[in-house]
Amino acid sequence: MYCGYCRKNNPVEAIFCMQCGKHIKTMDRSEPSPPVQSVGPSSPSWMGRVAVSLSVFIWAIFAGIILWGISHIGRSLILLAIAALLAFALAPLIKVVERRMPRQIPRWVPIVIVYIVVFGILSTIIYFILKTVIIEVRELAGEAEQLFSSQGGSSSSSLLATLKSWGFDNSQIVKYPEN
Ligand SMILES: [Zn+2]
Repeated sequence: MYCGYCRKNNPVEAIFCMQCGKHIKTMDRSEPSPPVQSVGPSSPSWMGRVAVSLSVFIWAIFAGIILWGISHIGRSLILLAIAALLAFALAPLIKVVERRMPRQIPRWVPIVIVYIVVFGILSTIIYFILKTVIIEVRELAGEAEQLFSSQGGSSSSSLLATLKSWGFDNSQIVKYPEN
């Protein structure tokens, strides 16, 4: 047992240093270890580096799997979030309907009624929006078809006229290949 103060090598059972008289048991200083040689594949630090890089690699794979999973269930997560938001928004409405119902009616009845009404309104709105969008897209497609199928100079298309007013001529405007 080496003394922590004067470094004298004392017997193992010694409590006080034989040279300086200080308490050495509590120091618990053993012989200083020789410096670790960290060269070569058999050295422990090399093993440590392999272990660290291996665990980083495994964690990277794990993170990749998690990200892949999120990207694949992302759509259902969004749907779930919308459903939760809708339920949260509809809760007060359900309570209002519930209060106007007679006592003997079970609790699911107002919930079902509110959901049917709200989904009916929502789907009607979405239907009309989609209808408008589809009609506009069709009109645009028809206009584009008319533009590209018309014979260059005789065209009265508004888009072509606009392009011409900006200084384009027919050779610059790309046309659909004529059948
Ligand atoms: Zn000592």
